[in-house]
Amino acid sequence: SDTTDAGDDAELRTPIVAVLGHVDHGKTSLLDEIRGSAVTAGEAGAITQHIGATAVPLSTISEIAGSLVDPTDFDLPGLLFIDTPGHHSFSTLRSRGGALADIAILVVDVNDGFQPQTHEAIDILKRTQTPFIVAANKIDTVPGWNPNPDTPVQETLEKQSDRAESRLNEQLYEIIGQLSDEGFSADMYWRVQNFRENIGVVPVSAETGEGIPDLLTVLMGLSQRYLKAEMSIDVDGPGVGTVLEVKDERGFGTTLDTVLYDGTIRADDTIVVGGKNEPIVTDVRALLQPRPLSEIRTEKQFEQVDAVRAAAGVKIAAPDLDDAMAGAPVRVVRDRNLEEVVAEVRAELADIEVVTEEQG
Ligand code: GDP
Repeated sequence: SDTTDAGDDAELRTPIVAVLGHVDHGKTSLLDEIRGSAVTAGEAGAITQHIGATAVPLSTISEIAGSLVDPTDFDLPGLLFIDTPGHHSFSTLRSRGGALADIAILVVDVNDGFQPQTHEAIDILKRTQTPFIVAANKIDTVPGWNPNPDTPVQETLEKQSDRAESRLNEQLYEIIGQLSDEGFSADMYWRVQNFRENIGVVPVSAETGEGIPDLLTVLMGLSQRYLKAEMSIDVDGPGVGTVLEVKDERGFGTTLDTVLYDGTIRADDTIVVGGKNEPIVTDVRALLQPRPLSEIRTEKQFEQVDAVRAAAGVKIAAPDLDDAMAGAPVRVVRDRNLEEVVAEVRAELADIEVVTEEQG
């Protein structure tokens, strides 16, 4: 939304959501299902494919969630999902010493319960103090399950046999117990009053879409309730982001796939980027975003844009990026003092190196 109030540039940005969990528990399927239901829910433009991320606006979430969400309860603009799931990307992607993601979904297969990478993910979430919810996935695999595609959990539960329902409940309480062993008090999300003190468990199926309305509702509610203050940013200020990936792109040379979490980056900005040895100072040559699906038949994959506002994924083309690193900070200089910005990036780089050593 545009503000004409020149004195006050603070606006709310989209919270950044990451998906973690053990291999094969359904992280990729869950992201696909969220994207799929967002496409079905709305007209064209319901979701925006960013570089490395997918933006789902509040209006689309409210359509998917139906009666679960009253859009007037929210003023955050929606959710931005990082497309690469897994805790490797989660721990590489940091911002100002914390996690780049503001909130996380921990995916746990209801048949499999906690597995080694589930514990690892929990450790990382604890260390970075990232609020999270648990998606108890694959509820459709419970013996005797009667699938009701894309419905809220309570609605599909009413249509299950007693046997299927109690079987699912056993599996869910197993997961709640495992969370408790990790020191978290957890419960079915509809019984959770305070999501800061209790972890909400949301039964879902990435296969049938059951529980997806609930998952989006809980993410939105948790963000609105507990993250709103952190989401208030000067969207027109100098941009700050984290490099997801350094990539060679035909016609553009080395580019940075970046998630911007503060401010704006413009096509004529000077930026400072974390490099292997020292911060790189360079001028943006082009800002690129994926071409909308409707235009994808043209041979150009990207379109050039003049400016990008947080939170968003963007590909930055610029000279001298060969030494840039995934996980490194990107900062726009604009009207700030160059040396100050370089010093900030250097300090952030030192912080990243410490983390890499801890993990290595
Ligand atoms: P990831 O490794 O965590 O990203 O897991 P994937 O998303 O690749 O899923 C692993 C396997 O589980 C794939 O064969 C999926 O089709 C399957 N799968 C994921 N979610 C569900 C679900 O909710 N129900 C069922 N029946 N299968 C699922």
